[in-house]
Amino acid sequence: MKILFATSEAFPLIKTGGLGDVSGSLPRALKALRQDVRLILPAYPAARERVARLRVMAELELPPFPGPVRILRGRLPSTRLPLYLVDAPLFFERAGDPYRAPDGRDWQDNALRFGLFAQAVVRAALNQAGLDWQPDVVHCNDWQTGLVPALLAAHDERPGTLFTIHNLAYQGLFPPQTLAELGLDSGLWHIDGLEFHGQLSFIKGGLVFADHLTTVSPSYAEEIQTPRHGYGLEGLLAYRRDRLTGILNGIDYEEWNPQTDPYIHTPYSSDTLEQKLSNKHALQEAFGLPVRARTPLFAFIGRLVEQKGVDLLLDAVLPLLAQEDLQLVILGTGEAALERRVRDLIATFPDRVAGHIGYSEGHAHLVEAGADLFVMPSRFEPCGLNQMYSLRYGTPPVVRRTGGLADTVVDSTPATLKDGTATGFSFELDDPLALREALQRALKLYARPAAWRRLMQQGMIRDFSWQRSARAYRDLYKSLIRQPH
Ligand code: ADP
Repeated sequence: MKILFATSEAFPLIKTGGLGDVSGSLPRALKALRQDVRLILPAYPAARERVARLRVMAELELPPFPGPVRILRGRLPSTRLPLYLVDAPLFFERAGDPYRAPDGRDWQDNALRFGLFAQAVVRAALNQAGLDWQPDVVHCNDWQTGLVPALLAAHDERPGTLFTIHNLAYQGLFPPQTLAELGLDSGLWHIDGLEFHGQLSFIKGGLVFADHLTTVSPSYAEEIQTPRHGYGLEGLLAYRRDRLTGILNGIDYEEWNPQTDPYIHTPYSSDTLEQKLSNKHALQEAFGLPVRARTPLFAFIGRLVEQKGVDLLLDAVLPLLAQEDLQLVILGTGEAALERRVRDLIATFPDRVAGHIGYSEGHAHLVEAGADLFVMPSRFEPCGLNQMYSLRYGTPPVVRRTGGLADTVVDSTPATLKDGTATGFSFELDDPLALREALQRALKLYARPAAWRRLMQQGMIRDFSWQRSARAYRDLYKSLIRQPH
């Protein structure tokens, strides 16, 4: 099958979160299943710099956008995966991340930027972009590509469309006049189209018009059909439930492998867990904490935003820090108020809490390898990757039971400990007390080295590779191929 995979970020070119990881891994896993999958994303400077030997394939006019848009062709670094970059310097040749200026604010013209990108993807999908290649299926991801299924729906001879929701909280909402600015058909301005409470919704383009929808975990597919997690789109999603599937993300087993990880101090496996201790010492040293083997070391990595529940963690650990012997390492960036709270906690407990306010791939690996416990108290979590990295690195996760966290972590109870299925700790309520109770349960088990070792090993042997998920996507694509008219 020929699959065009459209995304606004892909590791290792450019990444702000889980979408980047998925876009870097899933296409490769599909290629390993012998599918002709090709990536398309905007030609950000970071992406252009990392791809060797880019060739100009075509020059397109995409009214109403000014200037010719070039399609560049290369390969995703260290792979044979074909890559198309949509080169429109006026829109993409900028510092900052794919969505925000260096000052952290969204680019004012995001609607135009991703409106243009969608137009280019549509041309490629219809084999009108000079690529001499006709995909069977276009796989779109998140609001940045939401207009693609909407625009393709107007064509009879078109590929099948799949839209994956990586995070429903980000919807791409813009003022109503944006519709005309993007040169879109006024017929799309409709409650059963792109209109959402008086605004233009990019994500609705995917949710309404795609042939099929997926979320990145089975539990999240259910949750978004409820008012609590549906953001007013729950009715639409429930209406489309027959065309909505949850497929759990995998993790990149090459990038995240404690036996070969170049970022960590000492490689280890489930058979050589004693080596993990060297990584703990390296982590403590790197973060300026006292080097202590038996002090339980908790870690948090992630965006410092409400979704990730870092405030729950800060509230929950405060009394524990006063009472128990433990250490905490935090790695993340995000909202200024939460960053400040993290800095305050570090200042209050300098020899127990350490952190790095910033984004650092290398530190993330070191933290996963060196910590004893990984805390991920998300308020909602479409899939979540860090808890799976933690499981693979023998760092049992403590998670809130939601979305992908509920689907990947098995709570330690007398029964699951006995039958060997336990892999971590989970709690239900969005409340620091509930998290604290789970952390205390974890500390209790940590004090029993043999039981703890078993828990680490049980997590490490679980299969979270992309292979299984890639097969599920392949089968789904097959069902979406449209017969010629
Ligand atoms: P989300 O996509 O909601 O941010 P995920 O858990 O799905 O959350 O994916 C987050 C990814 O980004 C993981 O690969 C994680 O290691 C990485 N990450 C997040 N924050 C940081 C950071 N400050 N430094 C390094 N990696 C980070």
